[in-house]
Amino acid sequence: MDAALYAVRLAGGWRLIASLDLRVDLYWWFGSKARKITAGTSSPGLPAVSKVRSHDRGYAGAAKRLVVLSQGLPLGWATAVRDDFAEERGMDLWGSKAWGRYVRSALEHAVGAPLLEASGRGSRALADAPLFFPGDDGLRQLEALFGPREWEGLHTLALQLGGWLSGRALLAGEVEALLQEAGGGVPAGWVAAAQLGELLGRLRFYAGLAAEPAPRSPGWLRRRRARGLRCRRCGSAARGRTACAACGSAACAYCETCLAMGRSRACALLLQGAAQSAVQGTAGGSPTAALGRWGLSAAQSAAAGAALRFLAEPAVPGSAAGRFLIWAVTGAGKTEMIFPLLQSILTAGGRVLVAAPRRDVVLELAPRLAAAFAEQQVVTLYGGSPDRWKQGGITLATTHQLLRFKEAFDLVVIDEIDAFPYHNDPMLDFAAKGACKAGGKYIYLSATPPLKLQQEAAAGRLPHAKVPARFHGHPLPVPKAHRMISVHQCLARRQLPPALLRQLQASIERGAQVFLFLSRIRHIEPFLELLRRSLVKVPLDGTSSVDPERAAKVMAFRQRELRLLVTTTILERGVTVPRSDVFILDADSELFDEAALIQMAGRAGRSKEDPNGKVLFAAHTWTSSQRAACRQIRRMNVIARKGGYLKR
Ligand SMILES: [Zn+2]
Ligand SMILES: [Zn+2]
Repeated sequence: MDAALYAVRLAGGWRLIASLDLRVDLYWWFGSKARKITAGTSSPGLPAVSKVRSHDRGYAGAAKRLVVLSQGLPLGWATAVRDDFAEERGMDLWGSKAWGRYVRSALEHAVGAPLLEASGRGSRALADAPLFFPGDDGLRQLEALFGPREWEGLHTLALQLGGWLSGRALLAGEVEALLQEAGGGVPAGWVAAAQLGELLGRLRFYAGLAAEPAPRSPGWLRRRRARGLRCRRCGSAARGRTACAACGSAACAYCETCLAMGRSRACALLLQGAAQSAVQGTAGGSPTAALGRWGLSAAQSAAAGAALRFLAEPAVPGSAAGRFLIWAVTGAGKTEMIFPLLQSILTAGGRVLVAAPRRDVVLELAPRLAAAFAEQQVVTLYGGSPDRWKQGGITLATTHQLLRFKEAFDLVVIDEIDAFPYHNDPMLDFAAKGACKAGGKYIYLSATPPLKLQQEAAAGRLPHAKVPARFHGHPLPVPKAHRMISVHQCLARRQLPPALLRQLQASIERGAQVFLFLSRIRHIEPFLELLRRSLVKVPLDGTSSVDPERAAKVMAFRQRELRLLVTTTILERGVTVPRSDVFILDADSELFDEAALIQMAGRAGRSKEDPNGKVLFAAHTWTSSQRAACRQIRRMNVIARKGGYLKR
């Protein structure tokens, strides 16, 4: 897609504007009917995405002078020059030569001279002398560009688009899908309406890929170097190149990282709705009253109360969004704890997002949220979800879906902050950061926060609350060391140690469901064979991340049709089965870190009826990870006891 580029002189100074449809801009600035129809809706004070100071923002008819610098530049070039613009002294007096020089140098800076020369495009696009408005004869023709009805329709559509796209960043194809669903069709003139939306301050457009920020080096060096491209949607470096039908380039750049959500290209239009300002949470008078409604335990209430106070704090202007960590042990009941937090923001008229790492978590949470907040529209988003373009007070989404939002939410709750796929994924980190409004708040939930967050919390840089006790008020089962040979040795000897078999037998006999964790998928099948030979009458099976029947087997295990399930860390979280014992074999494996050990151990003792499950760390050696996991579990039990959260 191409964009025009022009400079316009307003009362407050010069602005540089990129346009998807220059007719709209000319009519906006000079058309007589534009002034009447847009009067009242275009006044300064509207939330605008642009950083232009409010008195500089143009309103229809405000242009003193307008210079069209190019009628067709590649989208990314036009937006890059627009975003780099700084007014220069004497621009009021510039003629066509001075403007020609300016735009050439601005393009060289934005795009890089080598690329500009190689494309041949720049010089051709700039061959025309700049056009000046108002010129001698232009104005009368301008009046004929839009009929009053036509302009009114465009104006209505621009405002609708602004509403639908508020808090979102969508590629052109996605905008069309949204128009199809929200508006019942794709109007032919929607791109013109988007341009009017930009002039109204309701929308901002970009190219899918943007040049990296210019390096701080001397001008002559800077111009020689082509700037790398970065995806505006997911923040990744864009290294893909492909022949492109849309722009005719043989090597149009695109982003490979977020390809699954549609191709973000150098020539693709990315539309972003204007951001609204964030609201503060209301605790509804007293936190205790707010908490009472949700039936929380004392430990849950204390942490939720601290989080509510955090949400009610006014945002510090200009600072990054505030963060708060709820460090809740496995089985603490963290879902119930977020209800009062969501309530506090929803009551203040805000929008909330709950992001979970996996689709099954989202699907499990959706009906609970819908039941708890019957008056709210709950939008559930995952790959292929039918709610894709719906808007609601509560949005529940898997992490990748966040890429479609920009500054949309007053509160972003990130469940299992340490879980795949946030952990060490810069793209999802970028997406989560972009989804929160400026001045909005983040709540992180985790039973095993990443070390970095633990350190920030300990140093007082991250406000946090611990929930050290489970909802049933019994301490966490502390893992016991069980010395045995490695799984590899068992398989080589084709024999299981009698001591391990006795422990397994005891668990089965006491009526427990047995989680047996192994470190490697390839061990599962041969290990199952050994188990079947020894535990003849026990129904057992194995599953892993590569097992297509995993869901069915987990279901059978929940329903006690299977009594023993051999698995890997894929089931370390999310699966809660009452009356469970946990065996972790090769607990000294380097594949099991402290967090994984705590999560696996956390499967035991989850129900009120059987709060003291057994956890065995079976290994030849006792590693620092095992030691750290046990230390953390014991420490939480101590804190819980001191806080009076444990039943005596
Ligand atoms: Zn991307
Ligand atoms: Zn292209």
